[in-house]
Amino acid sequence: MEKTTLVWLQRELRLSHLPALQDAIAQSDKVALVYFHDPQRTLGQANSVWLAHSLLRLQASLRHKGAELLLYSGDFAQQFALALQEIEPQQVFYSVQVGQPFTEMQNLALQMCKKRQVALQPFYSEFWFTPGEVVNKQGNPYVVFTPFYKAVVDKLPALQPLDERVVTRDEDWLKLHWPQLPAERFELPLSLREIQNRPWAQKLLQYWQPGEDAAWQQLQRFITQNLSDYDHDRDFPLLDATSRLSAYLHFGEISAQAIYFELIAYAEENPQLNAQPWLRQLLWREFARLMLWFFPNTETEPFQQKFADMRWQDNAESLSAWQSGQTGIPIIDAGMRELWETGYMHNRVRMLVASLLTKDLNVNWRHGQAWFANTLLDADPANNAMGWQWVAGCGVDAAPYYRLFNPLRQSEKFDAQGDYIRKWVPELRTLSSKAIHAPWLYPQECVLKGINLGKHYPYPVVDLKRSRAQHLLRVDKLKRGG
Ligand code: FAD
Repeated sequence: MEKTTLVWLQRELRLSHLPALQDAIAQSDKVALVYFHDPQRTLGQANSVWLAHSLLRLQASLRHKGAELLLYSGDFAQQFALALQEIEPQQVFYSVQVGQPFTEMQNLALQMCKKRQVALQPFYSEFWFTPGEVVNKQGNPYVVFTPFYKAVVDKLPALQPLDERVVTRDEDWLKLHWPQLPAERFELPLSLREIQNRPWAQKLLQYWQPGEDAAWQQLQRFITQNLSDYDHDRDFPLLDATSRLSAYLHFGEISAQAIYFELIAYAEENPQLNAQPWLRQLLWREFARLMLWFFPNTETEPFQQKFADMRWQDNAESLSAWQSGQTGIPIIDAGMRELWETGYMHNRVRMLVASLLTKDLNVNWRHGQAWFANTLLDADPANNAMGWQWVAGCGVDAAPYYRLFNPLRQSEKFDAQGDYIRKWVPELRTLSSKAIHAPWLYPQECVLKGINLGKHYPYPVVDLKRSRAQHLLRVDKLKRGG
């Protein structure tokens, strides 16, 4: 009897370093490579734009090899059942993912496969080490990053590289050819086609090129051009100094483990290079994924329980000013407008906008998380939840509650000439590099430059000194159980 395997792609949209696909091809006569698109379970609008392009590119790469990606669109449970019926696999392979909507779909798949007596095999290749392998002396997951990082670094020499090639003979790609299936299985789902055609989506894609090939090119560019200065330059938002690989990583167009082996190979050839600072960031990603694996409710609830009683103000006007980049605080507005224009925001600025929203404006971090989830191309359940909880002070290894970023000091430090602000807040571009960080403190210069505060650019939505004091009072009260 012919052996058929269904390989279910959740967000590992690549053809290299993918053990689930590799094992399926090695073990089976026929392999169906399937993506299920459930419009009720997508992550966010910007994510969907990337997803649409990534699926198209993957489809094109497979067609080039005489193979196909099969697309099922609609309610996940119904479509999964339909795929089992149409493909008749004896086994389903998938790479385990954390966060919603993945865990819910994984549970549904488990139930359906069990009912139909189809074997379901998880692969843990999207983790560096299988969850539970890196634990502390008590056998518990690390909840503080630095000891986690040290433990992982100790274990890294034992890490085995994933095979790059998923097929050993080119003709094996033909196992992924399904001419008998209805034409709609080969077409991008309607909801993704629609989103892709929106002007907003077209605008985002001017800045990015999704897909596996582009991911590798981006990695090479970063490693050879920016890695040596990463530690110093990474905090300056105007510089193109970080890898900008986050969306590629989110969609699994490149494997984080494969990046690690590329990195050490390059570091060995260039011994003067310090690759640790960037490796550390990659491991923050791993830490976030493990936190969601061990504490899945932290996607929506504070890790530190006492923050569940926090009284948020949730002022709709403040939230809207923040979302639209109209807070009157230039570095914040620059970041929020960069996000809207490009689907990306620099990490330092992400921390600043999150701190302003949660600590100065006293808006629940979940609103910020939701906005990011909808507008970031790299929106990721694990990194986004961890980032917001870290800044809000309620997460694992969080910034202390009393630490508010002062956006003006940060702006002067990391955008000293104000050119990042000038780029994204052009109405302030004529201001001096002193006044541009806080125009309301320089009314004469504003008048001189024809900038009418309150008309051309808003006054700040909040008095930063007062909001800081109020935040500290609120959190003190919370800590005392009030
Ligand atoms: P690089 O500096 O080149 O880092 C390399 C990779 O390491 C990144 O691509 C990313 O995968 C990982 N990484 C870097 N910093 C972090 C971090 N602090 N936490 C976890 N992983 C990290 N990142 C996302 O990928 N998706 C999100 O939805 C997301 N939301 C965030 C929300 C907030 C409030 C904050 C403060 C941070 C958030 N981050 C998120 C983390 C970080 O800002 C981005 O990963 C980074 O800016 C992406 O740029 P890069 O690829 O050039 O990063």
